[in-house]
Amino acid sequence: MRVAVVTVGDELLAGDTENTNATWLCEQLTERGVRVERVTTVPDRLADIARVVNEYNAEYDAVLVTGGLGPTHDDLTMDAVAAAFGRGVAEHPDVVAWFDDHDGYSGTDLAEGTTHLPTGSRMLPNEEGVAPGCVVDSVYVLPGVPSEMKAMFDQVADEFAGEQTYTATVTTSEPESTLLDRMRGVQAEFDVQLGSYPGENVRLKVTATDPETAKSAAAWLRERVDLVEE
Ligand code: ATP
Ligand code: MG
Repeated sequence: MRVAVVTVGDELLAGDTENTNATWLCEQLTERGVRVERVTTVPDRLADIARVVNEYNAEYDAVLVTGGLGPTHDDLTMDAVAAAFGRGVAEHPDVVAWFDDHDGYSGTDLAEGTTHLPTGSRMLPNEEGVAPGCVVDSVYVLPGVPSEMKAMFDQVADEFAGEQTYTATVTTSEPESTLLDRMRGVQAEFDVQLGSYPGENVRLKVTATDPETAKSAAAWLRERVDLVEE
């Protein structure tokens, strides 16, 4: 399963808000064996949101969108997602029913538009906030507020599954430029993907579809690099 993540918000592009939603979703999806192939941040602008949702919906097995669900002027995500599918938004009976069933909300208190979703979508209730999310085709629309986003993702997490992968990490004091021969070697010997992450030391991460291969590839590297104990 290959997916794309789209985060919406001017404040993310301005550097005012750190994009923790993207990081969290990437982590959750990767843990489930799903391959995240795009993370894109777009401004609070309807055409920009609609364009990437349309493009990624055609390209990936699923698209996750966060942010811009509320009732304020800069919350355009639902309209944009609807537009990406050539649909409109309309009052959704499941949203009305959900608010009726949950104490603390009366229809009249809700800001205008809160019960509107793209036509034909599946509603996702917001257990930690107000504005609901939805699923249209295989596009999942989640809130921007991190606690609300996480609770809503948990409702649909089982819909994201891929091939289980296994990783092992080897940390070395050698500079990356001197490791190239062994990087080539481990990939020639074993059916692994290799990541190289320089920092104070270099972390070499091997990923395989079975645990024995990951373990053997890491052992092969450990015998051939100057190790740093982790
Ligand atoms: P609301 O109904 O409160 O308006 P919303 O779903 O419309 O929620 P936004 O208006 O986009 O979400 O963002 C609400 C808040 O959530 C932002 O002020 C920001 O603090 C936080 N937020 C939004 N997007 C992200 C993100 N990608 N990573 C981390 N925090 C985010
Ligand atoms: Mg908002």
